[in-house]
Amino acid sequence: MVEKTKPVILVVEDNDDNRQLVIKVLGRRGYDVVGVVDGNEALEQLNSINPDLILMDINLPGIDGYEVTRRIRLQDKFAALPIVALTAHAMVGDEEKSLHAGCDAYISKPINIRTFPETIAAILKEHQP
Ligand code: MN
Repeated sequence: MVEKTKPVILVVEDNDDNRQLVIKVLGRRGYDVVGVVDGNEALEQLNSINPDLILMDINLPGIDGYEVTRRIRLQDKFAALPIVALTAHAMVGDEEKSLHAGCDAYISKPINIRTFPETIAAILKEHQP
């Protein structure tokens, strides 16, 4: 019998402070959190990490978070994987753009460390098989 393991969350974020904060906040809630610094690293490691949810910074060096999301969605295995966009500048149209790129939800930075884990838990619950 296979034991239920903790949900794995992949954080794609180039800013070290932001990435470490997310890892710390979600790690405390019992998630297995893996951080990568850009889209290429995310795409390369996606299959081995096999996350239950991705937090996707939009402003990344190289390929932006929208394009990384589109490329992830091209893989059937990850067609329904919850992807949550993170963006620092909450500009008009950002939410629509992230949803259009295939993200399921949108969180603006800086994250609220009190509500953030609840939001993530709710999204994971919604996407339970
Ligand atoms: Mn960034």
